[in-house]
Amino acid sequence: MDCVFCKIISREIPAEIVYEDDATLAFLDIFPRAPGHTVVIPKKHAVNILELPDGDIAPLFLTVKKITGILQSTFSPDGFTLGVNHGEAAGQTVPHLHVHVMPRFKDDKGSNLHSVVSNAPKEDRKTIGARMRAIQK
Ligand code: 5GP
Ligand code: ZN
Repeated sequence: MDCVFCKIISREIPAEIVYEDDATLAFLDIFPRAPGHTVVIPKKHAVNILELPDGDIAPLFLTVKKITGILQSTFSPDGFTLGVNHGEAAGQTVPHLHVHVMPRFKDDKGSNLHSVVSNAPKEDRKTIGARMRAIQK
């Protein structure tokens, strides 16, 4: 599999691994945006959350919680940004689902998740809500 994160899982590519269990792996981002910036991945190759089987979702987010706790104890940050770039349009560069865990500090010159997009909907909330509920029927 020609996937950089699968190669980290198989140890073909080195990484600073900070946690591993049967279903997940966590390692330090090679271009950290903050001290301790960690990437959490499922071991099963899936490009995004829609491709990952239901049974692998809970283990992934349990590891996200574990890493957040470890980072809280290591760096005592003031907060975190947890995020997934899902798809090229959203800025995904590695096509293997990964959750960024970024420790945040007051005055770290960052911003919040709202700042990643500015594309106000043309339809009102009622219309959009109805469309989304209709899909589930
Ligand atoms: P994306 O934009 O896809 O959400 O982010 C991919 C992340 O993976 C980037 O933050 C990038 O720095 C990180 N990354 C890409 N290749 C490697 C690698 O080979 N090793 C590690 N540790 N991180 C990587
Ligand atoms: Zn992969």
